[in-house]
Amino acid sequence: MNVAVKGPEAFADVRRLIVVAAHPDDLETLVGGTVAQLTGRGIQVYSVNCTLGDIGTPDASQTRPALASTRLAETGEAARILNLAQTFNLGHHDGELLPDLTLRAQIARLYRLTKADTLWTFDPHWTGQIHPDHRAAGQAALDAYMPSKMPLYHPEQLNEPGVGLGCLERVFVFSTDRSPDIWVDVTAVYPTKLAASMAHKSQFPHGEESLAWMKELDRRQGQAINTLYAETFKQIDVW
Ligand SMILES: [Zn+2]
Repeated sequence: MNVAVKGPEAFADVRRLIVVAAHPDDLETLVGGTVAQLTGRGIQVYSVNCTLGDIGTPDASQTRPALASTRLAETGEAARILNLAQTFNLGHHDGELLPDLTLRAQIARLYRLTKADTLWTFDPHWTGQIHPDHRAAGQAALDAYMPSKMPLYHPEQLNEPGVGLGCLERVFVFSTDRSPDIWVDVTAVYPTKLAASMAHKSQFPHGEESLAWMKELDRRQGQAINTLYAETFKQIDVW
């Protein structure tokens, strides 16, 4: 059983964090405040977006390659604001992500390359998760955890310079309704979270006004710990 914890001390031992998400703005809007706190402590944070986010527009006159290019640039700007160590995009099409063996191997390679000790990803089992890409990203990220540590799994990856066996020790999920056990007060870093989220101008063309949903979600989570804004996580036992 986990020891119930309710604060950022849950991440006290994190040195290298990898966040596996589906779309370019997921990290920023869902866990960007906690990420800002961790990078502020000098922790290396790596961001993985499984899809290009290339259907994320109501404008039918846009082309998918052009939108993908815009979103990669926005990802770079947000990463600069959050001081991320590196961002990766796995190149899948938005709305079509599957937790298949290809995606599993792609993610395992990044566990091996970044030498991350901690993983954050979507809870693939949240019944309220309406976006299939979020479920797929979370499932593939959890599925890659174990094989990444095994030398006979895609051994060709281990021949790449700088790549070694996966060394993840801790796994946390976000966007969960399975009784989150970690609440992080992100009020002090909220301006940074907002700025990183607003860097995704194609998604939030009216700036803070377009992010009212995010503020409302964070406000609701904040009520549980009597603060203005909070983000929540649940730790998965991995032994
Ligand atoms: Zn998303």
